[in-house]
Amino acid sequence: MTDSIVLGAGIVGVCIAIHLQRRGRSVLLIDRREPGRETSYGNAGIIQREAVRPRAFPREACELWRIATGRGLDARYDMAALPALASPLLQYWWHSAPARYRRIVAEYAPLIRHSVAEHADLIAASGADGLIEKSGFMLLFRSEARRDRVFREAEGDERDYGVGIARLDGAALARAEPALRVPMAGALHWTDPWTVRDPGGLTAAYVDLFRRLGGAVATGDALTLSPSGTGWTVRTSSGPASAAEAVLALGPWAREATRRLGYRLPLFVKRGYHREYRHAGDAALRRPVLDVEVGYLLAPMHRGIRLTTGAEFARLDAPPNPAQVEGSERFARELIDLGERLDPEPWLGARPATPDMKPIIGPAPGHRNLWFAFGHAHHGLTLAAVTGRMLAEMITGTTPFLDARPFAASRFG
Ligand SMILES: Cc1cc2nc3c(=O)[nH]c(=O)nc-3n(C[C@H](O)[C@H](O)[C@H](O)COP(=O)(O)OP(=O)(O)OC[C@H]3O[C@@H](n4cnc5c(N)ncnc54)[C@H](O)[C@@H]3O)c2cc1C
Repeated sequence: MTDSIVLGAGIVGVCIAIHLQRRGRSVLLIDRREPGRETSYGNAGIIQREAVRPRAFPREACELWRIATGRGLDARYDMAALPALASPLLQYWWHSAPARYRRIVAEYAPLIRHSVAEHADLIAASGADGLIEKSGFMLLFRSEARRDRVFREAEGDERDYGVGIARLDGAALARAEPALRVPMAGALHWTDPWTVRDPGGLTAAYVDLFRRLGGAVATGDALTLSPSGTGWTVRTSSGPASAAEAVLALGPWAREATRRLGYRLPLFVKRGYHREYRHAGDAALRRPVLDVEVGYLLAPMHRGIRLTTGAEFARLDAPPNPAQVEGSERFARELIDLGERLDPEPWLGARPATPDMKPIIGPAPGHRNLWFAFGHAHHGLTLAAVTGRMLAEMITGTTPFLDARPFAASRFG
């Protein structure tokens, strides 16, 4: 019998599987499709060492009004989803109040602090260095007021959390990123993040590492997971698989799987789109850039330039709405020389979110030998390697290298 089943082969599940296998467990990694083809495939590829402050719900009246009235591309609401979303969003707003948010940042920042170092270990072990750039990413500003406000906030992150920053005025930005065609007020350069030129390729490289360590991969459905004796059984394409312990790492699909086991976790999704374009023009973007006041990001990938959108609050299975990606493309085409679209339809994914902005990492409160790792929202790539190590340490009875208590599922009752 296998020691551990990990359900969900996105970047989070794969990192857990590697860390368990490294610690002597025999691991079966199960997904209903090929590993790393969902959210972990389509993200912007930034290992966000700077993101010590998770994405809060806006509290200022003017900002709420702007989003509610559909101005701006960074956030969009699907009215049909609002009744189901009302409760988690209200909790999200509540947790974003300044004093509560400060406590959350203090708990979250240690995970972020280790994000690059923990990935560096797995990148080296998997031989994936060719997918990685180490030149950070930039926030671009169209107005001096916004630029100066963000500069001041970033100085706090530099002082309190050791985040690396460089401030650029318009002229310095034009020298640093000659591909930009629109004059900007400047940029904040986060200097520490590493960026991945093919996020799906990174997950695949990690899966290869897992196999080299002796791990096995199978196709199966997490919704068939059921207790059996003191362990767990799940149906796979080659018959039932049993293990002493099971890990749910299902990203945006964790809500459905945990509900079947009797949990009522306040999980929701922030959907996001990407569209890729052929590289064009003489000057290439050197690193990802976020057009802050408009609300989209451009990331140079091996395949082309990937435009990613902000958050869409909608049901996980609602039909796609191209409004954000179309609107963003208009601004992006002014900003840089974008080539033709590489795919007919935009890619759609979903960030798995919790109202207190923290992932759930740790034991399932109501079952023995069942573990949870999901809800990483905007930073699932960033925190995957940290999560993998922490959870594997907990499962194998070692004190986790970072305090895991703030991430326990039991905080939701
Ligand atoms: C547009 C966009 C940009 C982003 N940019 C970044 C970024 O730059 N940096 C960053 O850190 N994060 C980013 N994110 C967030 C990040 O991509 C996610 O947090 C992360 O990929 C979640 O990983 P995961 O392994 O939890 O989920 P997933 O990658 O979705 O993996 C879950 C797996 O579970 C499987 N599964 C689901 N249901 C079942 C079932 N019933 N049975 C078996 N298997 C099942 C799926 O097939 C899937 O493989 C972005 C997200 C989006 C949408």
